[in-house]
Amino acid sequence: MKLPEIQRKKTRGVSVGGVRIGDGAPVSIQSMTTTPTSDVRATLTQIEALADAGCDIVRVAAATPEDTAALGEIVASAPVPIVADVHFRFRRALESIEAGVHKIRLNPGNISEKQAVREVIDAAGDAGIPIRVGVNEGSVMDRTDGDHQARQLKKPLNELMVETIADYLEVFIEANFHDLVLSAKSHDAMTTIAVNRALSERFDYPLHLGLTHAGTAATGLVRSVAALGTLLAEGIGDTVRISFAGDPVAEVSAAKELLASLRLRPREGAEIIACPTCGRTQADVATLAQEVSVALADVKPHVIVAVMGCIVNGPGEAAGADAAVCCGKGKAAIYRQGEYVRTVAEEEIVESLVTEVRSLLEGRD
Ligand code: SF4
Repeated sequence: MKLPEIQRKKTRGVSVGGVRIGDGAPVSIQSMTTTPTSDVRATLTQIEALADAGCDIVRVAAATPEDTAALGEIVASAPVPIVADVHFRFRRALESIEAGVHKIRLNPGNISEKQAVREVIDAAGDAGIPIRVGVNEGSVMDRTDGDHQARQLKKPLNELMVETIADYLEVFIEANFHDLVLSAKSHDAMTTIAVNRALSERFDYPLHLGLTHAGTAATGLVRSVAALGTLLAEGIGDTVRISFAGDPVAEVSAAKELLASLRLRPREGAEIIACPTCGRTQADVATLAQEVSVALADVKPHVIVAVMGCIVNGPGEAAGADAAVCCGKGKAAIYRQGEYVRTVAEEEIVESLVTEVRSLLEGRD
């Protein structure tokens, strides 16, 4: 059976330290360190944790001369390409390029002096690295009729963000520099969707999707997925960052799940599905699913494992799973690829299901 697939919008390609963005490359996952970049050890530890979680490209803040002085060592030891995030001081961009970073991010809202931007473009061109022009909603907030208090914008925020990027790109186009990635981020999902649709319509540069100051793990994750999921399903977006306050490793896991859910990246490992539970539920499904997930954390090939709360609807609902357990009172039925295998006692559920999965995977070798 042919499953529906996303038709991705064709964009130019850039290379970030060997990771391709755009031109049909798999949608890559990015995140950003939260450590002071000048603390090489702490930053590298976090970069390694992000890479282990599946992050393809890591961005670090290049805010001070101490930060850029640390970049050489960070770039040399990091297992993934490094992007320097530069605000306000274009010299940090030049120092970062000198240190060997694989991409620069510039914010039109705070590095706007044409000669300064041109120097960064020339240095990036000489180094053969791309630049992300990344506008945030805050970058356009000064485009008012003078009424800063009221935050009275001349136009809708999404239109202002597109205009800001278009204006900023003029100096890049004059310099014939097209090794670009664009991004436009708001904390608001609908604004982020609107601005990225417009950017995708107007430019063929690859797009970095994300929200800015999206909130906590609960709100930021949902907002990010609402915006990024919508855009990705429309074929828009070449690299993503899910962002929320907290441990960035969790952002990477969420981005992986989003991309796998949209079949934009292959799934790996045990995909645990579980019924939502209802009045027929005969077991603690949430705890069982969590225990099975932990017990199968080392599995590399993709395998679907279902934990279902009853034997009324469970077997039918889990028929597509590679292995399943359907719980009854004090006991449970184990299934393999839709076929009943055996009944086990409640306390043997996790071990029996895990054994079934491992024997199934051995049979696939
Ligand atoms: S599988 Fe059974 S217990 Fe789970 S939600 Fe469906 S009917 Fe309820």
